[in-house]
Amino acid sequence: MKIMAVNAGSSSIKFQLLEMPQEEVIASGVMERIGLEDGIFTIKYDGKKEETHPVLKDHAVGVELLLKSLIEKGILKDLNEIVGVGHRVVQGGEYFKDSCLVDETVVNKIADLADLAPLHNPAHIVGIKAFQKALPNVPQVVVFDTVFHQTMPEEAYMYATPYEWYTKYGIRKYGAHGTSHQYVSQRCAELLNKPLKDTKIIVCHLGNGASLCAVEGGKCKDTSMGLTPLEGIPMGTRSGILDPTVVSYICQKENKTAAEVVNILNKKSGYLGMSGRTNDARDVTAGMEEGDHRCKLTFDVQAKRIVDYIAAYYVYMGGCDAICFTAGMGENVIHLRKNVLDRLAVLGVKLDEERNNVRGKEQEITADDSKIRAFVIPTNEEVMIARDVVRVAKLA
Ligand code: AMP
Repeated sequence: MKIMAVNAGSSSIKFQLLEMPQEEVIASGVMERIGLEDGIFTIKYDGKKEETHPVLKDHAVGVELLLKSLIEKGILKDLNEIVGVGHRVVQGGEYFKDSCLVDETVVNKIADLADLAPLHNPAHIVGIKAFQKALPNVPQVVVFDTVFHQTMPEEAYMYATPYEWYTKYGIRKYGAHGTSHQYVSQRCAELLNKPLKDTKIIVCHLGNGASLCAVEGGKCKDTSMGLTPLEGIPMGTRSGILDPTVVSYICQKENKTAAEVVNILNKKSGYLGMSGRTNDARDVTAGMEEGDHRCKLTFDVQAKRIVDYIAAYYVYMGGCDAICFTAGMGENVIHLRKNVLDRLAVLGVKLDEERNNVRGKEQEITADDSKIRAFVIPTNEEVMIARDVVRVAKLA
């Protein structure tokens, strides 16, 4: 059976068409610059990659074009072959404890939660509606990034702010990248050859957005992102944690509003802000290799913070079987993994440099006598979405 996994952003739709339960990718791609004059539609199938530049007036036009292309390219004979659609949703708050079928109440609730994910949730709704229109008889399932983190104990998700902020406004940690953390920790248990319920795993999802997760017995015990994806370690353009006083101080010094300063912390900080180059690890690596101090410092600050979380999670879980690296940087930036793991020698972590010389491939990267094992595990959020569609829509 064929399942479509969708990740709709404000101006883009990423998709993957999977054959389930084999979990084979039949086609994948992205529609970008929706709403602009010069859209981009990239599709990969049968070992081919094609790019066209249609005008994508809105998401509905994008979805129609995508479905039409699947037929024209012979990827599908009939649209009825798609038996379920799964949508990634960034913020499910405390309301959503599992993935679920889409109905009007669900859509309204996702809209209500937009305060906590203003860039993402409204875009997801547009994507859901576009697929509902194009495939009205096909079950649509929403899969939330926050659900996996709902098992965090109260002591881990509460902030020490006035309690009424939590009861009145839902101020607490929600986390993000849950689908990725869940996929990688499950795969890691398989590689460890241990039942998931007996494992203690730390997942480092290091992409343009980045978060760590302490996964005990297959469940999230703590994670580094908070109310929003700004908390945690430094990222491509986000600062991660800092003293909140920085906000009022910069407001005063630069005559800015709090919202403007928070926007800088979200969009102009992290790799971009520190290095003065770009948010891309490749550019910052090039700078480091040219001897640029700020580029080297960017990696060192991030590695130090990653290790702060790993050390805390090691203690919180009472040990750790494995540390996993995933997402764009976790999978590809060899020197960053070394920078992190070398700092953990005190815990008996021993990197194997030859094994670590790998990009985008599943591999153990520690020596055989390392006390904690470390792996590169490419993430696969789409497979998790497709699995949830099959489970929730009872398609198996
Ligand atoms: P993601 O958000 O998971 O797609 O990760 C995107 C980031 O991963 C990029 O901004 C780069 O910093 C990094 N990245 C992706 N591919 C590579 C690569 N081959 N080498 C180094 N860094 C990479």
